[in-house]
Amino acid sequence: MRPSFLQDDHDMFRDSLRKMLEAEAYPYYEQWEKDRRVPRELWEKLGENGFLLPWVDEAYGGLGLDFSYSTVLIEELERVGSGLASGVCLHSDIVSPYIAKYGTEEQKQRWLPKSVTGEYISAIGMTEPGTGSDLAAVRTTAIKEGDHYVLNGEKTFITNGEQADYVVVVCKTDPKAEPAYRGISLLVVEEGMEGFSRGRQLDKVGMYCGDTSELIFDNVKVPAENLLGEEGKGFYYLMEMLQQERIVVALQVQIEAEEMVDLTVDYVKEREAFNQKISKFQNTRFKVAEMATEVDIGRKYINNLIEQHLKGNEIVKEVSMAKWWISEMAKKVAAEAMQLHGGYGYMEEYEIARRYRDIPVTSIYAGTTEIMKEIIAKNILD
Ligand SMILES: Cc1cc2nc3c(=O)[nH]c(=O)nc-3n(C[C@H](O)[C@H](O)[C@H](O)COP(=O)(O)OP(=O)(O)OC[C@H]3O[C@@H](n4cnc5c(N)ncnc54)[C@H](O)[C@@H]3O)c2cc1C
Repeated sequence: MRPSFLQDDHDMFRDSLRKMLEAEAYPYYEQWEKDRRVPRELWEKLGENGFLLPWVDEAYGGLGLDFSYSTVLIEELERVGSGLASGVCLHSDIVSPYIAKYGTEEQKQRWLPKSVTGEYISAIGMTEPGTGSDLAAVRTTAIKEGDHYVLNGEKTFITNGEQADYVVVVCKTDPKAEPAYRGISLLVVEEGMEGFSRGRQLDKVGMYCGDTSELIFDNVKVPAENLLGEEGKGFYYLMEMLQQERIVVALQVQIEAEEMVDLTVDYVKEREAFNQKISKFQNTRFKVAEMATEVDIGRKYINNLIEQHLKGNEIVKEVSMAKWWISEMAKKVAAEAMQLHGGYGYMEEYEIARRYRDIPVTSIYAGTTEIMKEIIAKNILD
């Protein structure tokens, strides 16, 4: 059943997106995985057809829609594959909203229209080699000198890092601030700035076509007008935006789990052993029943959160619950799905192999399962 936040217009949006992906993405996905990247042309085609940042105001080239359309985008991209969805959704629904929400008029004009067309790809640099979960401990510094900041530090594991035209960088403008989070600001670093370079494109266990890179800032002179919002407010901005980030990721993982169950159902209905379909063994039936139940619970929960998020409700605790539970559920589904595929599940020509290796990172990025539980416990106990 269609959730209440999806109407006929969303179906039309979905149909045209799916048609585009069937022509421009599905046939090439395997090659992109080998190339370790999604080509820029795909970004531009998504942009041309109105599928990037559909929520942005028409004044900046968008369609002026709401987050409900983004959920369609997330679902359809994820059905193609995680490596594609993680980069595009990060750009469209995680990074660009920082510009729209905290940017000045000039900043919005500078970065949003080209983000809508796909000419610009964006990234966000929080994690550093020495710190991930403990965001307040970042060591990248931006010291003000006249009309610019001098930025020094390193970021790692940055999605879209290799291709990004601009990066929202989490840095300390006041490294001595107490408590440390009060010294955090967000600076936008642009391609071509002297001293800004990319390190390695990282070799991952899965999501091969997703570009994940190191970023290096060596005395980068970042103009003061590239500061997002106010100095020292960066940590608050991050906390405010994490609700949507975690809904985006939880929905992506939910789709992965649904895809893995569908793949498994098709497989066990075809494959035979001991003169009967695998689907006739009680073990298979129970495993499929368990997976389908958990996936259905996940779907109902995430749909409910999307509805509340659209209403503007603060649901940080519930979103943290969804993020950890759905990603841990999907990891279980991945293991069972592969088991039911037998040896073929371990072969690259079967899609379950790719889905299986794409899943484990989902309980790590956008806040680990342990950090999600900390947030939930803090909300209940403190
Ligand atoms: C493919 C990929 C893409 C990514 N994309 C981005 C991106 O675009 N931008 C970005 O900034 N980052 C990105 N990340 C980084 C990601 O967000 C971090 O890896 C994550 O936040 C965890 O940080 P860490 O790796 O430093 O692990 P650590 O923080 O070192 O954690 C190691 C372990 O200790 C546990 N732990 C830590 N603190 C606690 C605690 N208080 N209580 C209990 N357990 C704890 C963790 O849960 C984990 O199990 C990406 C990572 C990957 C793998």
